[in-house]
Amino acid sequence: MIGSNRSLPVVDSFGRVHKSFRISVTDRCNIRCFYCMPETVRFLPRHEILTFEEITRVAKIGASVGVSRIRLTGGEPLVRGQLWKLVQMLKAIDGIEDVALTTNGILLADQAAKLRSHGLDRVNISLDTLDPETFERITRRKGLDKVLAGIDAAIEAGFEQVRINAVSMAGITDAEIIPLAQFARRKQLELRFIEFMPLDGDEAWQREQVLTGEAIRQAIGQNVGLLEPVARPHAAQPATDYEYADGSGRVGFINSVSEPFCGSCDRIRMTAEGQFRNCLFSTREWDLRTLLRTGASDDQILATMRDSVAAKAAAHGIDSEEFQRPAKAMYQIGG
Ligand code: SAM
Ligand code: SF4
Repeated sequence: MIGSNRSLPVVDSFGRVHKSFRISVTDRCNIRCFYCMPETVRFLPRHEILTFEEITRVAKIGASVGVSRIRLTGGEPLVRGQLWKLVQMLKAIDGIEDVALTTNGILLADQAAKLRSHGLDRVNISLDTLDPETFERITRRKGLDKVLAGIDAAIEAGFEQVRINAVSMAGITDAEIIPLAQFARRKQLELRFIEFMPLDGDEAWQREQVLTGEAIRQAIGQNVGLLEPVARPHAAQPATDYEYADGSGRVGFINSVSEPFCGSCDRIRMTAEGQFRNCLFSTREWDLRTLLRTGASDDQILATMRDSVAAKAAAHGIDSEEFQRPAKAMYQIGG
């Protein structure tokens, strides 16, 4: 039965309406990017990870109060067996208009067509470099060739959008920017640069390592092609997009550190073990798994989701004195 509070959207104390839900399906991964995971890592036992049915139930509750977009992430979502089944279950929910995936691409060549045929709308593929040695330095594993094959398979599968996400770090990926921009332009793929955030498993992040989106934009403008700003399709979009003046493609910048966009954030999150979060940088979580596994009603689960959103801070404040890192790293939250 639909409770009386079901018609109201999930709004926080700053009036932000939450429509976008990032769901982590695993904390496991087949590579070890230093900006995300420590080299040696102990993963969650499988029984702690939500089942597809549990994830779908939470997504359905979200959809009943206005969530319309879901992004599956992790860890590496494609290491979770039969992810296409979850895509199919989520796409069948009334009100869910868009299901997207963020992946490192290593297993994508095998899965792209199946995911597409079961309803996956869009794919973001993470690729920080086209140089095999730099790839290995960042990921502590080999596999660039597999990621490139994954990108081609995604293009072939005909997703609504295939986008490349690149994390930029001073002293590590400076020389990668121009080749990546040329690669994306050649392949007609949108490229987004993400600033390095203090969510690395090694807790070694330094402000000086952040290669700002603005510096990258200037380098691309000078070396690849003139860039012109594009109007935001919706206010909650985290990236600032630019288009090549000759119409040959787009580059976006997620300047989470140098230009936070918290004021228009419409995202809520759930970790692989069913902990609900109101922000990537939240230091608090709301335990949906216990509710799911102890017979709580949909209204009780929704009430907890609302409590979390109501407690959402105005901004993450990475650059402020009071900033406190969350206890979890990126792979444990879901990027
Ligand atoms: N494994 C998948 C992947 O790599 O695309 C999905 C999960 S990963 C945590 C999601 C995104 O977060 C990736 O694009 C990754 O590059 C990015 N990321 C991870 N750690 C980051 C950090 N410390 N700062 C900025 N972005 C980060
Ligand atoms: Fe794995 Fe993605 Fe984290 Fe890299 S960023 S270690 S691919 S979860």
